[in-house]
Amino acid sequence: MATTHSLWQSVLGEIELSVSHATFATWFQNTELLDDNEDNITIAVPNVFAIRQFQIKYDDQVKSILKKNGVDAKVINYVVNTKGKKTVINRETTKTAPPKEEFMQLPQTRTEQIASNTLNPRYSFDNFIVGSSNDLAYTACHTVANSPGTKYNPLFLYGGVGLGKTHLMQAVGNKIKATDPSARILYINTETFTKEFIEMIRFKKSGFSEKYRNVDVLIIDDMQFIAGKEKVQEEFFHTFNALHQANKQIIISSDKPPKSIPTLTERLRSRFEWGMAIDIQMPDFETRCAIIEAKANLSGITLGKETVEYLAANIKTNVRELEGALNQLLAYAEMRGIEPDISTAEGLIGNVRRTRPQHITSKQIIDRTAKYFQISTIEMCSAKRDKHIVLPRQIAMYLLRSELHLSFPKIAGELGRKDHTTAIHSIEKIEKAIKLDFSIREHVAEIKDKLYA
Ligand code: ADP
Ligand code: MG
Repeated sequence: MATTHSLWQSVLGEIELSVSHATFATWFQNTELLDDNEDNITIAVPNVFAIRQFQIKYDDQVKSILKKNGVDAKVINYVVNTKGKKTVINRETTKTAPPKEEFMQLPQTRTEQIASNTLNPRYSFDNFIVGSSNDLAYTACHTVANSPGTKYNPLFLYGGVGLGKTHLMQAVGNKIKATDPSARILYINTETFTKEFIEMIRFKKSGFSEKYRNVDVLIIDDMQFIAGKEKVQEEFFHTFNALHQANKQIIISSDKPPKSIPTLTERLRSRFEWGMAIDIQMPDFETRCAIIEAKANLSGITLGKETVEYLAANIKTNVRELEGALNQLLAYAEMRGIEPDISTAEGLIGNVRRTRPQHITSKQIIDRTAKYFQISTIEMCSAKRDKHIVLPRQIAMYLLRSELHLSFPKIAGELGRKDHTTAIHSIEKIEKAIKLDFSIREHVAEIKDKLYA
C-alpha cells in the first residue's frame, strides 16, 4: 500500500488536472494528508480560510479521487497546518504563480459589466469563494449547472450590488457550456432585453421572440430594470412561459426579491416565485479574508496576514470594492517597488492608524475593550468570572501585551489580578484563538481600529 505521502501526491496530481492553476496554487498546493485511516481521514490545509472552501467546494471531489486510490472516506476532517508556513510577502513565487493572463482577467469596471452580454470565461465556480453569505446561492447554482431545467426553475438570485450575482450566473452558463458545447445559452442584461424589445416594436425588427425562445438556458441579469415597463414585462412573461414549458432553465438576478420589485405584474411575480429565490449577502470577515487571499495569490503574491485582515476589516461594502482596493494596493506597491504590506494598505485605504503604540495608554486599551463589549471598566477589572466578562478581559490582556509590550505582572496588575500567570494563560489563549476563530480575530481587529482611529 502506498504511503500516506505518495497517496496524497497522486490525489493532488489528479486534482491539478481538474482545477485552474490559480485554484490549485491557492488551495491545494500546501496541503497534506495527515492520516489515511478510512475512519479518520485528516487533511491539513494552509490556513483557516481554506477549511470552508474544502468543506463546501472540494469535499466531494477529494473523496471521489481518494476512493479511486483505494481509500473510501466517509468523513474528512480539515485542520489548519500548524507547521511553519510562509505568511510573508513573497514575490518570488513565480514558479507557482499562475499565468499573467489569469490575473489580468480580474479587474473590471462597472461599465464593462453593463456592456457585456455574453458569457465571460473569467467567471467560474472555481474562483468563486464560498462563505455563509453565499453558500446557498453557490450550491443552488452548482446544482442547476449540473442538471439544467430539472430543479430550481427559475433560479432567482437577489442581493446588493457587487456581491457576486453576475459571477455565479455566468459560472452556471460556463459550466453548462463546458459540459455540453452544443447547449444554447443566452446571457443577457435586462436593459439589453428591453432595448431590443423596443427596437423590435419601433423598427418592426424580426427575430426577437425566436432569439429568446430558442435557447436551452436563459440567464437574465438585473431584472429590477424591468420595473415600471409593462409591455416589456408582458413580453418577458411569454418568453418565460415558452421556456419553462419546454423545461428550459431560466436564471434571473435582481437587486431585490421578486415581491419587492415595484410594479411587477402579479403573474410575473408569481412565476419568479415558482422555483427557488435565494439571496446573497455581503461576505463575513472570514470570507472577505479568503477572497483577498485568493485574489492576491492569483497574481503570485502572498500577502501578510495583517494586510489581509486590514483590508477585510476596512472594506465592508461589497466584493467589487474589496477587489478594487486589493488591485489598487498591488498596483501601487508594484509601481513604487515597495511591499504591499499593512502600512502601504493603510496609506491607500485612508483609515490610517496614525499613532503608533507609544501614544496609547493601558487605560485606553482597557476602556476601549470594555466599551466594545458593552461592559464597564469596573466589571472588567473586577473578580467576576462571568463568561461575558472573562473574554473581554483576556482580549484586553492580549492587547496590552501586543500593543504596549507590558510585562505579565504589569498586565495582571492593570486588570486587578495579583497572579501574573493568569495574564500568561489569557494571552496564550487569545493568541491561539486568533488563529482558529474568526470572531475573535474580528473583535481584536475592530478594537485595534478604534484604538488607533
Ligand atoms: P453583482 O452582479 O452581484 O453586482 P458581480 O458578480 O459582478 O456582482 O461581482 C463583483 C466582483 O466581485 C466580480 O469581479 C466578482 O468576480 C467578484 N466576486 C463577488 N463575489 C465573489 C466571491 N464570493 N468570490 C470571488 N469573487 C467574487
Ligand atoms: Mg451584476
